[in-house]
Amino acid sequence: MSDAGDIFHLLGSDEVPPVHEYNASGRSPFLLICDHYGRLIPRVLGDLGLPESELVRHIAWDIGIAGVAEALSDQLGAHLVAQRYSRLVMDCNRPPAVASSIPRISEATTISGNEGLSREAAELRRQIIFDPYQRRIDEVIDQRTHQGLPTVLVSLHSFTPVYAGIARPWHIGTLYHRDKALAPLLLRHLRGEADLVVGDNEPYSVSDDTDYTIPVHGEMRGLMNTGIEIRQDLIGDQAGQHQWADRLARILREIETELRALQVLSA
Ligand SMILES: [Zn+2]
Repeated sequence: MSDAGDIFHLLGSDEVPPVHEYNASGRSPFLLICDHYGRLIPRVLGDLGLPESELVRHIAWDIGIAGVAEALSDQLGAHLVAQRYSRLVMDCNRPPAVASSIPRISEATTISGNEGLSREAAELRRQIIFDPYQRRIDEVIDQRTHQGLPTVLVSLHSFTPVYAGIARPWHIGTLYHRDKALAPLLLRHLRGEADLVVGDNEPYSVSDDTDYTIPVHGEMRGLMNTGIEIRQDLIGDQAGQHQWADRLARILREIETELRALQVLSA
């Protein structure tokens, strides 16, 4: 006997895998990570009980960041590892044990397809979406180390301009916790751009409970790291995405030069 809500597989053979890699042979020290790149939903999960109008909102993915991430990857010759399925299926930047890993509510929207989920169904999402993605990031870092390539982890996100009725003034923010090397450099460069309002650990800060990529792949691996959050209204179209990728590429190249001069870029 099984509950009608139980499912025994998550992705059909014709559905794309969660891990998306771009410029995998890129030699840049910057390894780009994009946890909220896509908003696909495995077919067996239907629409998670949501109308299309909700499934295109920021609650489902990081609007605009996919285009920025790929253009930045092109410009820097940087390897990008991204996750194609919606954060509403499983948030790949949350420890699997926390409630927001498979959210029952996001901002003010109830995700009915995530209510009353069995432990087995939650575990299946982890095995099929979360684990392969995290494993691949691990492998990529290992491979780079073996190849003698230094790795600076840059976790790319975007944020909604208005959250729960509160407007956010920042154009871009740096997010960091234990690594105090990269974020100050990035902040200094961003603040040198006269037209930008820059958030210092805004609109979010990083913690072990609310994040996975920076604590696990950055800090625990001993890599220099930062998160970057760009406001979604600035990168809603391809022109905006390319402008921001150009700007970030220029700044990250300058930072690479400074890090090499300090001799802190080593595998
Ligand atoms: Zn995000």
